[in-house]
Amino acid sequence: MTIPVFRFAPSPNGFLHLGHAASALLNARLAAEAGGRFLLRIEDIDTTRCRPEFEAAIQEDLAWLGLNWEEPVMRQSERLRCYRQSLDRLEERGLLYPCFCSRKEISADARPGERDPDGAPLYTGRCRGMPHRAAEAGKTAGQPFMLRLAMDRALAEIDGPISWSEGSQGGGIRTITGEPAHWGDVVLMRKEFPASYHLAVVIDDAAQGVTDVVRGEDLFPSTAVHRLLQALLGLPEPRYRHHGLIRNPSGEKLSKSAQSPSLRDLRAGGATPDDIRRLVQDLLPT
Ligand code: GLU
Repeated sequence: MTIPVFRFAPSPNGFLHLGHAASALLNARLAAEAGGRFLLRIEDIDTTRCRPEFEAAIQEDLAWLGLNWEEPVMRQSERLRCYRQSLDRLEERGLLYPCFCSRKEISADARPGERDPDGAPLYTGRCRGMPHRAAEAGKTAGQPFMLRLAMDRALAEIDGPISWSEGSQGGGIRTITGEPAHWGDVVLMRKEFPASYHLAVVIDDAAQGVTDVVRGEDLFPSTAVHRLLQALLGLPEPRYRHHGLIRNPSGEKLSKSAQSPSLRDLRAGGATPDDIRRLVQDLLPT
């Protein structure tokens, strides 16, 4: 039997809050209960927002909470060649196309009310039909571009629907059928850095042998894209479990922008790791 592998994969773009603590503690507990491994992965490809001092703070906060993880810690910023190789494989199969659009153009083109599951304007495909020569000329002229997945072509390569096993707190398992097309032609390489979250996460989960992806329910809709990419790249299918989110009193999910207190704030206010564990247990929706 393979040993279960769980991971906590924060982005070092701020200090951890109670929601992160909940996810990390849940992963570590499930790993311990299953006699499995618990990994930490630093998702720092977004160089515009991630900073090494936040990574150091993440490791310090998790250690303060009493968590142990395996070394070495994987850092996405050190894995850009792996992402490039997968992009090359998809590109050779004609599944990607360059997109030169600005945010403004994407918003202006979007049909009213048509948004992706994250709430961003749905891309209408302005660059999808661009002649190869024009695209090459744009690249040669140094115009910044993203790489998008041609969703219709990608889906045509897949046999049958996109689905996954979704676990729950009570131990039940459901099969979920996802609709990656709701995301439109998703971005797999960003203009500013050489991968997108969707691409990096599936490659890294496979590279680390992650068998159980346990993360917040805000990422539930992304799983359809992740399963599609796994199918296209021939990667193994992990089990998934999306847990509820801790929200602030007005119902927003915790975040730096919502001014949620960080673990450091709570600690400075006198909270102990046991207090955090209790809080998380009380607040995490089932
Ligand atoms: N890095 C992502 C985040 O901080 C989590 C990715 C994942 O668990 O799949 O929201």
